[in-house]
Amino acid sequence: MSQRRTVKKSAQIVHHQCTVMLAGEEVACRVSSSVRKSMRLQMTHDGCIDLRMPLSVSMAEGLAFVQQHQHWLLQRRHASLQQQQRWLVSVPLLGRQTNIERTNITRLTVLQERVLVPSIWQAADVQQAMDGWYRQQAREYFPVVIDLWWPHFAAHAQKPQLRVKKMRTRWGSLSQRGYINMNCLLMAMAPDLIELVVVHELCHTRYFDHGRQFQSLMSELLPDWRDRERRLHEQGRLLLSS
Ligand SMILES: [Zn+2]
Repeated sequence: MSQRRTVKKSAQIVHHQCTVMLAGEEVACRVSSSVRKSMRLQMTHDGCIDLRMPLSVSMAEGLAFVQQHQHWLLQRRHASLQQQQRWLVSVPLLGRQTNIERTNITRLTVLQERVLVPSIWQAADVQQAMDGWYRQQAREYFPVVIDLWWPHFAAHAQKPQLRVKKMRTRWGSLSQRGYINMNCLLMAMAPDLIELVVVHELCHTRYFDHGRQFQSLMSELLPDWRDRERRLHEQGRLLLSS
């Protein structure tokens, strides 16, 4: 581990850029100290370490913390880099990995069985273009699923208004102000998993927590919801963090 330089200093946050040895490999590490209570360690989608720590923690302590979590970091880095590689050959569309073809075009073109991209595009370019495509498709797809399920809830609540967003930590949420927020990245997932998130959020129009009543309503409407939740968690984990 070697500290290289201070990149930016502001009143609240101090950033450091350094490298850390992980299993014999030099990995870039970004450390930011700020007014916060706890340490937060993350592996970014492109395989760099991101450490956030309270101002009271020294650089040496921070880097020791990184070393303690070496094993976890290596696993995350491996998964992130693998996921990045995947965006070079195929993209997930409604639960199916669809092959990418590189051709002499200037923009993303999504066809039934394949996706055409400009030949010079890197994984990040593909991912960025797909984000836009997911968002656009989501605006048409989600309202159809919501309308399909709304009759089960209409007697008890006012229909929430849909907001499509890209979210990094959750698939959906229901705000008390009457919005159903849905993650556009769900367009990568299978239709029954999109349905799961819609039904889950609509159940919150009846019960705001995940208590027994909420769970029995879920079981009544989608008897296999627990299995769908497990699949959403497994398949979606990398997509959310990317
Ligand atoms: Zn919930």
